[in-house]
Amino acid sequence: MRYRGRFAPSPTGPLHAGSLVAALASWLDARAHGGQWMVRIEDVDTPRCMPGADALILQQLATCGLTSDEPVVWQSRQGERYQGVLQTLVDADRAYPCGCSRKDIEAALQARGVSLQRHGTAVYPGTCRPDQGGLNGRPARAWRFACSPAAAVVRWTDRRQGEQSQDVAQAVGDFVLKRADGLWAYQLAVVVDDAAQRITHVVRGEDLADNTPRQILLQQVLGLPRPAYLHTPLIRDAAGEKLSKQTGAPPLELSDPAATLGRAAAALGLPATPGSVPERLLSWTGAWRARWAP
Ligand code: GLU
Repeated sequence: MRYRGRFAPSPTGPLHAGSLVAALASWLDARAHGGQWMVRIEDVDTPRCMPGADALILQQLATCGLTSDEPVVWQSRQGERYQGVLQTLVDADRAYPCGCSRKDIEAALQARGVSLQRHGTAVYPGTCRPDQGGLNGRPARAWRFACSPAAAVVRWTDRRQGEQSQDVAQAVGDFVLKRADGLWAYQLAVVVDDAAQRITHVVRGEDLADNTPRQILLQQVLGLPRPAYLHTPLIRDAAGEKLSKQTGAPPLELSDPAATLGRAAAALGLPATPGSVPERLLSWTGAWRARWAP
């Protein structure tokens, strides 16, 4: 198997110190395995995207010596592929249209006395499931994945976090594949693209670890290979908050790229090393290989 890894930023703004850690880790893992490293711009959530952020991110990565081995892929250009996969799931009775608004969902949950919240998002009560009566005459808004409660327990081993498991039906429920605003959901897009790009290893921030079981479930249902997963530690600000654009993380300071990379490497537990950007990358590749690809 030929190693193929990727870094998949959402262009909602320029890279910050936290995103550089994920970029560096995925690049080092690819190099340590003698593999390929690709950049994919995840711009499906168009209202959250910032015009020009994609070009800026690619430039920031290049300044840090990280360039895609294959032409960069933009998710906003893959709509036909996502539609085809949604149709496959519909044909297999694993996706269905949903006519519920957020309010409908909350009301249905309240009526059942359920107060199950997950990151502020309610676990979908299954109102529009075909076996519960379907849309019942309401117009379709979103499309959801139909979890089979009997087979929704996903087990996997994260290379850093170890043995993991989640009952997706219970923890998340029938999750959205295509949103009410017509945009593709991250879960579907990421699974389709990881498969289309033949990604063998996913290395990304720990904040995304919680999505992994949904993605594995989709891979299983679609008969797609499962990549190996490694979730990297997050960088937190002085208040202990994860660094993110939402919490106002400043864009990367790149007047001294070697020093900026040095801070990202330190967050990954890699030793300080002198030299230029290429020299440091080479030295960290050796250290990474010893730890993660012996
Ligand atoms: N686009 C996602 C983000 O920037 C990352 C997706 C992934 O690596 O799976 O948070």
